[in-house]
Amino acid sequence: MNLILMGAPGAGKGTHAKDIVARFDIPHISTGDILREEVAKGTELGTTAKSYMEAGKLLPDDIIIEIIKKRLQEDDCRNGFLFDGFPRTIVQAEMLDKIADIEAVIYLKCDDDILLKRLTGRRMTEDGKIYNIYFDPPPENVKVYQRDDDNEETIRERLKIFYDTFSPIMDFYEGKGAFYEIKGDDAREKVFDTILTILNIM
Ligand code: ADP
Repeated sequence: MNLILMGAPGAGKGTHAKDIVARFDIPHISTGDILREEVAKGTELGTTAKSYMEAGKLLPDDIIIEIIKKRLQEDDCRNGFLFDGFPRTIVQAEMLDKIADIEAVIYLKCDDDILLKRLTGRRMTEDGKIYNIYFDPPPENVKVYQRDDDNEETIRERLKIFYDTFSPIMDFYEGKGAFYEIKGDDAREKVFDTILTILNIM
């Protein structure tokens, strides 16, 4: 199953991606996570990525496309994959179209005020557990950190870029009959149920 999860920053792509890949035994490929790993390792790619990410800007398409081509050659992709944070531009979507058939693009639609609170309030632990100081505060003894790009100025830029680039990508997949919009601000279980319903009718 070849799937794409779309949504503005803070829409919950990472959370729902975990539920989907656990059910379907496909890898969760997040370009944001791949880039953050490169930044943490201090590679050349990481150094380039860091400046774009800190400004909330997208990396150049050719860099992202190289990353994806390499990742799709790995063994775990033979039964499919779930993309999160890719494609982010129409150029990326067109490139992907040449190398894979996408069965469903699920768009998690959320209100902007919820997105802002989710992002400004987001805190995570080293092992990836996500808390939110407004909705789900971390216990006092748990050490949390904030993503470098989760500050209000960068968040506004990330949201703006998302909305600027979203429509052509949506049109592209709608044209292929593969686009499904769902309400992303419902409870986690409800969102997952809706996703399962979509995937079962495909
Ligand atoms: P979010 O969706 O919360 O903004 P991501 O983790 O998906 O976060 O991405 C973080 C940053 O990584 C983006 O702001 C951008 O700089 C970079 N990035 C991730 N995926 C892509 C992509 N497909 N194309 C270009 N830049 C990307």
